[in-house]
Amino acid sequence: MSAMRIVLLGAPGAGKGTQAQLIAKAREIPHVSTGDMLRAAVAAETPVGKRAQAIMEAGQLVGDDIVIEITRQRLAGDECKKGFILDGFPRTRAQALALDAILMELSAPLDCCLAICVETEEVVKRLLKRAEIEGRADDREETIRERLSVYEAETAPLLDFYRDKSLLLEVPGEGIVEQVGLRIEEALG
Ligand code: AMP
Repeated sequence: MSAMRIVLLGAPGAGKGTQAQLIAKAREIPHVSTGDMLRAAVAAETPVGKRAQAIMEAGQLVGDDIVIEITRQRLAGDECKKGFILDGFPRTRAQALALDAILMELSAPLDCCLAICVETEEVVKRLLKRAEIEGRADDREETIRERLSVYEAETAPLLDFYRDKSLLLEVPGEGIVEQVGLRIEEALG
């Protein structure tokens, strides 16, 4: 299987994290999650973590400068030479443009942007369930609504950004993990 560079888009709760892990395993590429990197920075109380913590708990977006820098460092690393699946980045137009520039510098163009599409009420239900199971600090109902409205305003427009580049693959995210996984494998070919 050839190396693949994939961006994964979808609302919070659409199943990006789970599907990204499956894709990473099947294709032997690293799963690059800015949410995971930021949560690790918060846990380690690094300067980035200290700046990000309150913003994440409020369900808002951490500054573009911070996330662009941590993503740039990760993508430039040796591990990502064999491809990657990017989960949770880009989330704004500025981040999408920065990603283009980073990948141009690395001579490593994207193969596709995979979007997992799920209805809003379904993602609220899923996130509330995840809150019970995982106890994530940003899975409270108020924060969930805020994260979804941030997604609609800032991130959903990126579907058009990648559609215009003919890179967009849309997959329905309803159903069990395995069903969605099969649809994704079919879409990736
Ligand atoms: P996630 O695990 O991808 O849902 O991310 C959890 C939280 O981390 C988000 O709600 C944001 O506060 C922050 N975050 C993750 N990725 C980004 C990003 N690309 N830009 C800004 N904030 C981000």
